[in-house]
Amino acid sequence: MFANTPVEKMFFAGRDIFLKRDDLLHPDFSGNKARKFAYFLAHEFTGVKKVICHGSPQANSLYSLSALASIKGWQCDFYVDHIASHILNNPSGNYAAAVANGANIIDLSRLGGLNPDVGTRCQAYIEQQVLPYEPAALFIPEGGRCGYAEYGVSILANEIVVWSKMHNISDLKVFLPSGTGTTALFLNQYFIRQQTDIRVVTCAVVGGDAYLRQQFSMLNSDIREHPQIVNVGKKYHFGKLYPEFYAMWQRVCASGVQFDLLYDPLGFIVLEDYLQRSEPGVVMYLHQGGLLGNETMLPRYQRKFASDI
Ligand SMILES: *Cc1c(COP(=O)(O)O)cnc(C)c1O
Repeated sequence: MFANTPVEKMFFAGRDIFLKRDDLLHPDFSGNKARKFAYFLAHEFTGVKKVICHGSPQANSLYSLSALASIKGWQCDFYVDHIASHILNNPSGNYAAAVANGANIIDLSRLGGLNPDVGTRCQAYIEQQVLPYEPAALFIPEGGRCGYAEYGVSILANEIVVWSKMHNISDLKVFLPSGTGTTALFLNQYFIRQQTDIRVVTCAVVGGDAYLRQQFSMLNSDIREHPQIVNVGKKYHFGKLYPEFYAMWQRVCASGVQFDLLYDPLGFIVLEDYLQRSEPGVVMYLHQGGLLGNETMLPRYQRKFASDI
């Protein structure tokens, strides 16, 4: 179904690391979310006519889900808390591409009669007010944080195992920045259960280490199978702009490969620190795609730091 994505060498922080190019998975359905949603692509869902999900209107998962839905011939209903007017007036990136794929993006703040203060409002609203009336719909939790993701992430894990055997590499560390931690958890779990010596090292890009550990536990209660978390050392807010993020992004993009502006800058900042503080042996960085989001992130960076860059 998917191509086995290539592994390249990359010079970073004074040494060679390997780069798993999962951004090259498929032109319309690539990277992290495509791996997580691969189960839905590979299986028949008799009677399903629609997929329902929720999240941010700029989320990579919105675009990937719209791509999945168009391949499967499903309708895609994506619930969001709010759509900022600049997104509506100036659609770009994941939002624009999802709309072009025919996704139906539903702004809950514009539906009347809702309790406005519920943080988990989208999920609760969908569970109580939508799903009971949608028997032909498949519900996928925000960001694809669900057991279904194990299927596609295991395929990715197996590609890495085969590659490391072919190159006679032992004690490989696979590094990736985490959001929900679903990818890191299912990768590490696979490496352990297949009795390999490959291990996952990650960092929390959304929330802190405690949040990430909690996310791991929701998918797997055995902490011996949880990935190693490297502390970020500083509090960053997800989706906010930081000059050191932009500087790191420019540094790694100078290698000739484009990285995403949401997860990769912090991923490489933490990886550099980790490489300097420990002797991890062979390291592979997982490029998880998400490049369409740069269409929205890059102009934000250019506006904010226009005087410095
Ligand atoms: C969703 C996403 C992540 C985070 O993946 P999790 O499995 O939620 O940790 C990282 N990078 C990119 C590009 C993503 O789209």
